Amino acid sequence: MRYRTLLIRRKIEEIPPDQLQRFIEVQEAFRRWATEWCQSGFKTPLPQQNPLRQLARYLKFGMAVVKHHCPKEEGKIWNVPLIFDVQLRVDGERDMSRGVFIDLTRGEVRIRRLCETIVLKLKKSSIKWIKERIEEGGKPVLAMAWVGRPRRSNLVTFNVALVFAREVAPIEMRRVLVVDLNALHNGVAIATIEGERILQRGTLRPDLRLIEMLQKEISRLESLCAKRGEPYCTQFVAAQSRLYRLLRKFEDEAAKKIVRLARQYKALIVVDAPKDESLREIKQSRYDPSKKIYLNVGRLKKRIERLAEWYGVPYSETRLYSTICPRCGFKMKELPGRKMRCPKCGFEAHRDEVPSLWAAKRFSELISSFSSSAIALAVF
Ligand SMILES: [Zn+2]
Repeated sequence: MRYRTLLIRRKIEEIPPDQLQRFIEVQEAFRRWATEWCQSGFKTPLPQQNPLRQLARYLKFGMAVVKHHCPKEEGKIWNVPLIFDVQLRVDGERDMSRGVFIDLTRGEVRIRRLCETIVLKLKKSSIKWIKERIEEGGKPVLAMAWVGRPRRSNLVTFNVALVFAREVAPIEMRRVLVVDLNALHNGVAIATIEGERILQRGTLRPDLRLIEMLQKEISRLESLCAKRGEPYCTQFVAAQSRLYRLLRKFEDEAAKKIVRLARQYKALIVVDAPKDESLREIKQSRYDPSKKIYLNVGRLKKRIERLAEWYGVPYSETRLYSTICPRCGFKMKELPGRKMRCPKCGFEAHRDEVPSLWAAKRFSELISSFSSSAIALAVF
């Protein structure tokens, strides 16, 4: 099974206060039970009454998909979402009274079982997303809802996640698509390889000028906020989220493009990304502060991995050389303009091209080494 999730997020002011309060009460009671349950090694009996009893059943069922960790420390609460069964109405199907009802004919999602039904209007982009998943053979398998604060935000939001699943036959690989994930301002270099031949090559890069402008604006607003307070602090926070949104949009589009290419070429995706520890070291070093934002390649990596999984595209991570000569194995020197030159044999290439040349050299090894990781993926 492959999974993909649509996240719907609303400001809490958009939820009628009575419904919101009721939801929060249930969430708190449920989290208290769930914490006791997971800390007891799943021995605590199910709650006696609904809706908690039913929510507990769904949680048991959804444990494979919910990747939340039970807190070990005494007194900490497990921030687990409320889980519901789900039905999708595309075209007048009978309402089966499931916990969450996605009704495309009305363009809304209904969250039930908590006394009063909470109704959320779906945005056009969400409807489009759902229709695309259906066309690919996906079906909704469960829904999650919770009230909480997203990361990097001060605002509490009402959130619904719709989880879709589908069966896929893994594609038969004939090529390798190398993704060189280094600092994003240098671009994400991609190359599709067959044997020793490079079939296609390209670079994906975020809008650096726009990002630079936003960064300047952010630091201007930050100092104004420190000196004069409002409204600059609010503007500062807003500008920061604009920057994150911009980067996220780039990551989403880049991941889509990479996975689309891999499907088109029937290629195994090989991501060459620095290890988390070495990224941490670079961040702590005297790296240009305005460029540090480009070092967060983890999210893009995760996006590629998840999308690849959904489409049954095999995925692996390997370190490939970018400074060792692919012709003679000697350590190369970097020239201006990110050119690399081998002092021994005179070989020259752009730094971004070197990893893909190494991947071409290691082509059959990369393809065959994948079979073992394929088993690991199948377990998921
Ligand atoms: Zn050489």
